[in-house]
Amino acid sequence: MESALREQPLKNTKAAVDVDADVDKLTNSVDKLRLDLADLGYSTKGNKQTLQKRLKQAKKNNVGLVKNEKTENTESNEKEETSNKLVNSGFDCLFSFSSQKSLPSQPFDYYLFFDVEATCEKNNKNYPHEIIEFPVLLVEGESFEIVDQYRSYVKPSINPTLSEFCTTLTGISQETVDNSPDFIEVLNEFQQWMAKYSLFQDKSAIFVTDGPFDINKFIAKQCIHDKISVPTYFHRWVDIRRIYANFYRCRQENITGMLAALDMDFEGRAHSGLDDAKNVYNIAKRMRDKGCRFKKSTKFRTYLGRECLDLAFRLNGRFQQFNLPTNVHRDWVAIKLSNLLLQYPAGITEAIVLTELESQWTDIDKEYQNGTGTRYHSIDHIYNGSFSSDCILEVTIEKFYYIPGTCFTVLVVSDNTSIRKVELLLHQKYTFLLGNHVQTSSRPFLEKRKVKLAVVGVVVSKSSIESLSGSQPQDDEKMARVSKLPRIPPTEQLVFLLSATYDRAFVTSQFGSDCLSNLRASHTRRYKLWLKILHIDKAAHTSSAAAYGNNRGQYLKLYLCDTSDEGSGAILTLYDYQISLSSMLKKGDFIGLYHPGLIESSTESQTLGDGGVLLEYTNETVIFCMTEQDAEAAELTNLMKRYPSSDPSRSEKSASQAANSIVSQLSDLAGDSKDVMDCRMYKKRVYIKNLRSHMINITLFGRIVAMANNNPYRGGKGDQPMDRYAIRLVDETAQIDVTLWEAVGHRARRLREGHYVLITGLSTSKVYKDSNGQTTWYVNGSTSCGTEIINVSTIQCLLASSCFRKIVGLNTISNYEQCHVCATVTGWYISDENGERRLWEGEIKEDGTVIEDKNSGVRLSHTKCYGHKSCLRSVTVADEGQLPYCSFCACSVYNQQDLVRIFAGELDEEGAVLYWTLDDGTGEVVFAEAGQDISAEFLNSTASQFLTLGIKGQLQALDSVVGKEYWMSMNQV
Ligand code: AMP
Ligand code: MG
Repeated sequence: MESALREQPLKNTKAAVDVDADVDKLTNSVDKLRLDLADLGYSTKGNKQTLQKRLKQAKKNNVGLVKNEKTENTESNEKEETSNKLVNSGFDCLFSFSSQKSLPSQPFDYYLFFDVEATCEKNNKNYPHEIIEFPVLLVEGESFEIVDQYRSYVKPSINPTLSEFCTTLTGISQETVDNSPDFIEVLNEFQQWMAKYSLFQDKSAIFVTDGPFDINKFIAKQCIHDKISVPTYFHRWVDIRRIYANFYRCRQENITGMLAALDMDFEGRAHSGLDDAKNVYNIAKRMRDKGCRFKKSTKFRTYLGRECLDLAFRLNGRFQQFNLPTNVHRDWVAIKLSNLLLQYPAGITEAIVLTELESQWTDIDKEYQNGTGTRYHSIDHIYNGSFSSDCILEVTIEKFYYIPGTCFTVLVVSDNTSIRKVELLLHQKYTFLLGNHVQTSSRPFLEKRKVKLAVVGVVVSKSSIESLSGSQPQDDEKMARVSKLPRIPPTEQLVFLLSATYDRAFVTSQFGSDCLSNLRASHTRRYKLWLKILHIDKAAHTSSAAAYGNNRGQYLKLYLCDTSDEGSGAILTLYDYQISLSSMLKKGDFIGLYHPGLIESSTESQTLGDGGVLLEYTNETVIFCMTEQDAEAAELTNLMKRYPSSDPSRSEKSASQAANSIVSQLSDLAGDSKDVMDCRMYKKRVYIKNLRSHMINITLFGRIVAMANNNPYRGGKGDQPMDRYAIRLVDETAQIDVTLWEAVGHRARRLREGHYVLITGLSTSKVYKDSNGQTTWYVNGSTSCGTEIINVSTIQCLLASSCFRKIVGLNTISNYEQCHVCATVTGWYISDENGERRLWEGEIKEDGTVIEDKNSGVRLSHTKCYGHKSCLRSVTVADEGQLPYCSFCACSVYNQQDLVRIFAGELDEEGAVLYWTLDDGTGEVVFAEAGQDISAEFLNSTASQFLTLGIKGQLQALDSVVGKEYWMSMNQV
């Protein structure tokens, strides 16, 4: 308090140097009034007159006790001001102690004051700046004292010699930088230093800089030089200039400006990074002592143009990952990434990607923990009457009692957002849980049980609060306002949560005996199943045929598997109002399914392959749910294990595993070598060589080297054969064939050899013995595992990323079976089957005459080649009157609409071929045979559009491509 009183009114030095004195007198004096008021802890809102009045009053009161925390808040009004005055005038003695203590708590545990120096040249803004000094002061949020510092000079690589201007400006000598580590080394070391304090991990932290440049410009440029993404800890920071201008309600100033206004001196040498940082800290400390809170103020935004993006896989192997949000998994990133690329068709910058993904992840992180995409409501919502029809609560049962004379049990539930409680009438089907036989390790099942439920309505009950409040201490004031207690009618949509600590015995006793493979549809026998959720599909509208004769509008499928050796699958279908149950569950959860309904047979069973079981949620079904982590902790992930541990196929497998050293690197994956290995949360890349049997949720990234025609599988239980496409995928470690079933296979039909794809949600089968007695297993992709395919080759932005493809010179392509080039189209021509160049109708011959004779020229419109619309591969028209047949999809093409005309090898009956000539400056020109894809890409039109252009238009279109540069992948033919 003492120091606050002694504080001098702020001096504004700026007025003296400004040119337009008249104008500035006004603004500056307003600025000054505001500075003074802020300094005394008063509101800085209002016009000059108000400010003057307020300041006068303030000085009269002559007390600066209550720090004006509201200064940042533009909402501050007269009321607050008066209350400040009251406090100031009357109760200063009383409040003096507490006000001193009540300096605002800072929102971050630590602040990193940061000011880089970089290479530069006089008057050159576009200089490729490289960081040469990287100093950080670590300040503890609570005490706001400096607790440590990190400082390193950095050796620049692009311009290793410092300009004289730079040395003079920063005081950093050539010798200093010559003997310093490079940026990546410094960053890695700095991260280790941050890790000592658990910054950005257990402890929250944020950088504080003077203006946006240190991060937005210098860090951003440096990261691009070094081919790393800007680390996430640099994505937000506190810009002291903005905080200062907000706090004192004045214009932004640089360090010297701020110091002058605050009547402080610069300590040390200006443009020495560490000293700059120290002075920024001095300013911040002063503001903090006046009650300023340091909230993040600026988001990362790049000043640089479009940059190659490397999200899934880092470019610079030397850079050590730090602070990757721990639960973000690759599938999620991959899928979001492809969505983003669709949203920004013109290309996206790394900064857009990272900020978008980061903010989406913050939203979704909770969802991943709680369920899929659920915003849980709180009990307060019920009291406010603001709950909607899809209101879902997560609550704990405080107590339960019978309503005498009825068959109703009332659960009194609470959540941690409110001290209020709500009554819930228990649905009949759950009453068995009240019995003594349903015990957890020590207490009745319902006691302190966490449940998630969909609220179907609210009735206000008359029962008094007191009778329910029990021994819990109550906040009288709040409770008094509540005279009525809401009661929730019985709900069918309720999930009981199980914990590893209490419920192991419950699970083993209830769910230990039934297994999917021995289910028989019967109306007498009731089953209790322990299943893992593999995938939760999106809700879809029922077609009338699939609606089982009921008037069901929507359905949603949960794909489940048991934990037996067979890993048998099941689908639980939820209809309409039941769909809300799915939002209480998430992929990976284990569920205890009590009395599910069994659907006897349906064509849908095909989607599960052999022996999938179809289940329904009936009015007898009860769901218990345990998170994956808890199930692992309680060793309940393989409750159905059927095989003896001496199973020969098992030991065989482990032997082969031991031999494969790469596989052993995966030992940190969830599940030991006997379990199904779930890669969902595995944060490293899984390579083809890492694969083994019994894995799920695999994401592979690789290049397609072969695609097989549809080979429908007829061995399933259904009558219909299942479509089955195979692709051969290659990555750095190996190649493997992946079978894509049904819908996923159909989606893959437009892929081509040479495409790079990211495939998520693959699984590997159990071990089979093939006809030669060899053991083998298969990689499968299907909707039931949640497989998605992202064609990376068609994502423009990624195309340019050198981590995905190595660009080679045209002169070296003969060394590669498949490669990527970046070349300019220098021309096109048509040749016949033998490679003889052919002249076009309309083409000008060497002698200057135009070919008009339709017989000596070839016409593109002569093409007789048709393609199957869904796969763009050519179809064969067997005989007149017969249906065209697509051998790739193994089906007849029924409709004319399913046919498209495509560019193909043959341009007319004689088999003319369109060639493009390319040049990439490596001295050679090659001719590329144009497949329909290339031509469509080059010409930016489909074949059928192209054919409608007429000969002149076609020539123009072809010529317009000449001179353009393309990234291409090439196959040796
Ligand atoms: P500062 O934090 O103000 O010391 O500036 C950081 C970096 O910005 C310096 O290391 C220089 O690379 C660059 N810089 C600052 N002032 C100038 C200037 N007047 N001319 C050129 N570059 C400058
Ligand atoms: Mg500096």
